[in-house]
Amino acid sequence: MNTATTPFPDVTLPPAKLLIGGEWVEAASGQTIPVINPATEQTFAHIAAGSAEDVDRAVKDAHRCFESAAWQKMRPLDRGRLLERLALLIEEEADALATLESWDNGKPYAVSRNIDLAFCMDALRYYAGWSSKMAGEYLTLSPFINDGGTYRAYTERRPVGVVAGITPWNFPLGQAIQKIAPAIAFGCTIVLKPSEETSLTTLRLGELIQKAGFPAGAVNIVTGYGDPVGTSLVDHPLVRKITFTGSTLTGQRILQAAAPQMKRVTLELGGKSPTVVLADADMDQAIPGAAMAIFANSGQICTAGSRLFVEAPVYDRVVEGIAEFAATLPIGHAFEQNVALGPLVSARQLEKVSEMVQGGIDSGAEVVTGGRKAGTQGYFYEPTLLQNVGRDAAVMREEIFGPVVIANRLDAISDLKAAANDTEYGLGASIWTRDLNKAHVLAGQIDSGTVWINTHNVLDTAMPFGGVKMSGIGREFGTEAINAFTEPKAVCMRLDPTGLE
Ligand code: NAD
Repeated sequence: MNTATTPFPDVTLPPAKLLIGGEWVEAASGQTIPVINPATEQTFAHIAAGSAEDVDRAVKDAHRCFESAAWQKMRPLDRGRLLERLALLIEEEADALATLESWDNGKPYAVSRNIDLAFCMDALRYYAGWSSKMAGEYLTLSPFINDGGTYRAYTERRPVGVVAGITPWNFPLGQAIQKIAPAIAFGCTIVLKPSEETSLTTLRLGELIQKAGFPAGAVNIVTGYGDPVGTSLVDHPLVRKITFTGSTLTGQRILQAAAPQMKRVTLELGGKSPTVVLADADMDQAIPGAAMAIFANSGQICTAGSRLFVEAPVYDRVVEGIAEFAATLPIGHAFEQNVALGPLVSARQLEKVSEMVQGGIDSGAEVVTGGRKAGTQGYFYEPTLLQNVGRDAAVMREEIFGPVVIANRLDAISDLKAAANDTEYGLGASIWTRDLNKAHVLAGQIDSGTVWINTHNVLDTAMPFGGVKMSGIGREFGTEAINAFTEPKAVCMRLDPTGLE
């Protein structure tokens, strides 16, 4: 690890302002929040600290835009063209955006460039195509009021209105696009609140949105803390829909706050996803696959495979294999050559991960590898594998959101269903096996929004994504996205054939 001597590339910083009604404005409070590089622990930028007053202005501008004749009459294809133009602008700036993301979040530059940015462009193009495909249904009725009339009906999909998009810090630009692209494609306007930890690429996105020619107020960005910015957005009477990605605790708060005004919500929350390795799996794939299921993005992925279940005959081999693999992963800052694991996003996150692992050790867990902060500068944590952990230990039950996996021996495959589902979460899961029958039977037994077979964390905008149980409500991506941002309206008509028959 070499954080001191390798220089970081130059980076152009976006304005420490808010994008409201098409203008960059200072926060009403005049206050800012420091932005810290997680590898150096140094402040290198500031963002504006928004308030309820800023949120009110942004929501009103989003509402004005939504109600405007220009927005209402904009052809769906032309909303799609806005998204296409934005994708092109991002493509032109992909290197710079990836650099900014890595400065801000700390993730390896190659990850920012090849995963985050690739996702952003794909998602924009995917939703651009959807804008012209909002279709209702034509229905033939048999109404119980049998009055001799003939009834016909159709449904149309109407945009919900002003959307509040609230995002976390693990895939900052990707999450912003994940909220903005479907909102615009389906005719909504949006106020976006990025995480206070990682707002920079979203702000730069705001500049590109202006350059792409989005109407003023269609996309607004208010940076700042969850309280007051997120809370005021959720409470604002003109916000009709909240699309949130973040922790389960915040999701619960949002759901409660949304209830009095019956707001629509999509909640993409936490997870404690199982990775299952069966004895017949191809070990050359399963061992690195299970390792990267948890260690990718330093474990800061909601679907990270943080509970490992291994069939008894191969348990020792898989556990040793993952520990050896972990030891080969270069830890370092984002711009080091071949770095695999960057720092955790913040001092707070490092403290949380450290405390949870220590709690596990104190309650009897055995450390197979890792279990410590890495280096002396920056929020780095070693890839960690624990075993012999009790089923009630916090480290087994709670989301850690760091590079920490708990290994569990599976003595009988019939135990898997109960063991894998012994969690309040249900976001992702993976099964590693060569046996197609076992793969599909077990996939059906695991309660989660996604099950991967012989892979983990493959996301695609064509595939619905979201969780069951405490992992959330609703789905993003795929055909499900249309339901998330629109309401069906049924129109029913009585035809009178008198004189025409
Ligand atoms: P967080 O819940 O602390 O914050 C997420 C966002 O909510 C931030 O922008 C924050 O400022 C805002 N916020 C905080 N309190 C709020 C409130 N009361 N009202 C409105 N907004 C509020 O989450 P985080 O620490 O930024 O992100 C990590 C979490 O996100 C993990 O639990 C992870 O599993 C989850 N996550 C889920 C998915 C998914 O798709 N399911 C994807 C990525 C991350």
